[in-house]
Amino acid sequence: MTALYKDITALKDKRKSLKAKSIGFVPTLGGLHAGHIALIKKSLAENSTTVVSIFLNPAQFNDPSDLEKYPSTWEEDFSILKQLNVDIVFSPDKNQIYHDDYTYKIIETAISNDLCGAARPGHMNGVLTVVMKLLNIVKPDKAYFGEKDYQQYLLVKNMVHAFFMDTEIFACPTVREESGLALSSRNRRLSDKYKNIAPKLYATIRQKKSIDEMRAELMSYGFKIDYLTKKWDRVFVAAFLDDVRLIDNVPA
Ligand code: AMP
Repeated sequence: MTALYKDITALKDKRKSLKAKSIGFVPTLGGLHAGHIALIKKSLAENSTTVVSIFLNPAQFNDPSDLEKYPSTWEEDFSILKQLNVDIVFSPDKNQIYHDDYTYKIIETAISNDLCGAARPGHMNGVLTVVMKLLNIVKPDKAYFGEKDYQQYLLVKNMVHAFFMDTEIFACPTVREESGLALSSRNRRLSDKYKNIAPKLYATIRQKKSIDEMRAELMSYGFKIDYLTKKWDRVFVAAFLDDVRLIDNVPA
């Protein structure tokens, strides 16, 4: 049976009463797809209790129109989680999470302003703050993040280490469509024309070519490149197709 918790105090009380051997946690923004489901299945396989949060975190959206356009599919999401037999779905209200009006923040000063942080000021602070809050509420033994958002995974892992938190952070491989396109809630916004071009992002960065060659190739397909760079032994890219921002990364 899947239990739904919207209230933070109620979930904290439940957490206190849980004698689970191991609690796994998967935080999401909702708009669930097979990428999220892979993380959830890993948690279900490795833990006696799995908690999944659905929280569209306003603090990580620097662009209000991006937040507005984000898919809202709560009913669908909840029915997927019930079918998977997730133990607890946590779907808090933003006023409860940000009862302090976001006056307290986690700020990382080394890598959060790079890559996605450079293009989206404050984005990574918003991510880290909400993950800190969620980890403090859920107190999981293990939490699962996707390699698709590799910089986010790294920042969360480093934050947990920096603050001596008791959760182990795991990365899961990027789940892709058959075309190679990394699954993302934002893909729903691609028109048919752009949906056919989008897989070129992965096809291009997985070639062992120079950054300049890959940049030229992506531009020729019509991508507007936000960043394309090698870092941490990986190739990272963010690019717009129409007004949809796609990101991806692969081992270099
Ligand atoms: P989001 O709802 O976009 O914040 O994603 C929630 C979690 O799912 C994050 O840890 C993401 O990195 C992960 N995720 C999103 N898309 C994928 C994907 N295609 N493959 C694997 N993990 C993913």
